[in-house]
Amino acid sequence: GAPLLEVRDLRVEFHTRDGVAKAVNGVSYRVAAGETLAVLGESGSGKSVTAQAVMGILDSPPGYVTGGEILFQGRDLLKLGREERRRVRGAKLAMIFQDALSALNPVLSVGAQLGEMYEVHRKMPRRRARDQAVELMRRVGIPAARDRAGDYPHQFSGGMRQRIMIAMALALEPDLIIADEPTTALDVTVQAQVMDLLAELQREFTMGLILITHDLGVVADVADKIAVMYAGRIVETAPVHDLYRAPAHPYTRGLLDSIPRLDHKGRELYAIKGLPPNLTAIPPGCPFHPRCPLAQDICRTELPPLAEVAPGRTSACHFWKETLHG
Ligand code: SF4
Ligand code: MG
Repeated sequence: GAPLLEVRDLRVEFHTRDGVAKAVNGVSYRVAAGETLAVLGESGSGKSVTAQAVMGILDSPPGYVTGGEILFQGRDLLKLGREERRRVRGAKLAMIFQDALSALNPVLSVGAQLGEMYEVHRKMPRRRARDQAVELMRRVGIPAARDRAGDYPHQFSGGMRQRIMIAMALALEPDLIIADEPTTALDVTVQAQVMDLLAELQREFTMGLILITHDLGVVADVADKIAVMYAGRIVETAPVHDLYRAPAHPYTRGLLDSIPRLDHKGRELYAIKGLPPNLTAIPPGCPFHPRCPLAQDICRTELPPLAEVAPGRTSACHFWKETLHG
């Protein structure tokens, strides 16, 4: 069937003091209902900016959508008026951020914040809204939910706060949730628990889920497919297990090699040398060439197209064959 979300050739620019930063340069991806797409990349790769464009929280200076389409349930969100856009966002989309403490209201108890969602958007009487809030707190695994509904965000641990933010996102039963580094601030065991919770709720509600992360290790068990971004472009897409087994892009290979693994104990981790490019001056040819161990002359002049390299897999590398089979 039709995808829930289809981003087509999206372009976003930022006007900065140093010039125009090309943050997103022709990104396309699809997410179906009940599907989880992980978007992987370093900071500055455009993964968050793409999501912000989908959420419609970019439509003001200094960030501008300069091209493309964002089809949500078949309608281009970029063509909707401000009011209608806001309504779609409120009713059908939700976002989860890394930092729950700054996303939640510090002076309102979590029960009141959750309850407000139902009061405002579902027109429930306060008493019933509160009951719903407690029910939702239970559902996301807050122990002693009824007793804790009167507590403020800072009274919860980082992991519990993240669960509360998930509850906020879920309250109105959105069709699509975008989670931007939802577990990055948490320690490793809590990361896994929160990620498992998200995956479970995503299945239960048959939502689309976009997981934005710089850490492939965190999303491997929950994502269906992965899009790897670099310098505002998608450089590889694949079903998650295929990508793990055999990456088709040298950048992905570098990311995989820098995941700590038990069997690599004592061995120095490979880290990709150099830094991501300045987005006001993206290198010509393949943007990854200054850092790529496989770069040849052609890489310095010709932008590799995102080509299908196997069923359901794409790579933007002149030497994807060597990478995939090498
Ligand atoms: Fe490396 Fe060239 Fe492939 Fe770019 S196109 S990733 S520089 S081998
Ligand atoms: Mg980010």
